[in-house]
Amino acid sequence: MRRGYIQVYTGNGKGKTTAALGLSLRAAGAGLRVFVMQFIKKSRCSEHKALERFNDLITIKQSGKGFILNRKANASDIDAARQGLDEVKEVMRSRDYDLIILDEANVAVNRGLISRDELLEVMEMKPVNVELVITGRYADERIIEKADLVTEMHELRHYAKKGVKARVGIEK
Ligand code: ATP
Ligand code: MG
Repeated sequence: MRRGYIQVYTGNGKGKTTAALGLSLRAAGAGLRVFVMQFIKKSRCSEHKALERFNDLITIKQSGKGFILNRKANASDIDAARQGLDEVKEVMRSRDYDLIILDEANVAVNRGLISRDELLEVMEMKPVNVELVITGRYADERIIEKADLVTEMHELRHYAKKGVKARVGIEK
């Protein structure tokens, strides 16, 4: 039985979600079973369409009501995130997956959709042989402390600053 670790990809530079998705491909290539839960996001982005082709090994789900950067989180956002986290707990208990990715879970904590303690609890309940990846900017200090690997994507430059919107196939 191989041991799994907890990885966190955070920071303000591009590459956190794509790194996690890249890992899901690598893992599936090795025959590992992958579960991806995307918090906050609601629209079915291109990675869904791609990963659905590997649906014997990769399951990807969303538990959000859309981006909440420009508005206050409401009860429906909180409800969606809570349901997502409950499903993640079930998936962990099922032992059906080797790699579990919680995309944007750090943002869900930062925006108050789930509490830091709830995310810590999920980290705590990780089966020893499962690899857990948590992405999103603003990772909480306690989440960082508890992880075995932490990578910070640091923005040196981003075309978003020039007004380039998220593009299909590149950002979504
Ligand atoms: P990717 O999904 O490309 O790997 P990421 O997961 O590292 O990126 P997030 O923090 O999840 O990036 O950002 C989500 C989206 O917000 C990005 O795809 C981009 O469209 C937008 N974004 C990223 N950086 C900036 C920025 N500096 N200003 C405005 N919008 C940004
Ligand atoms: Mg992301």
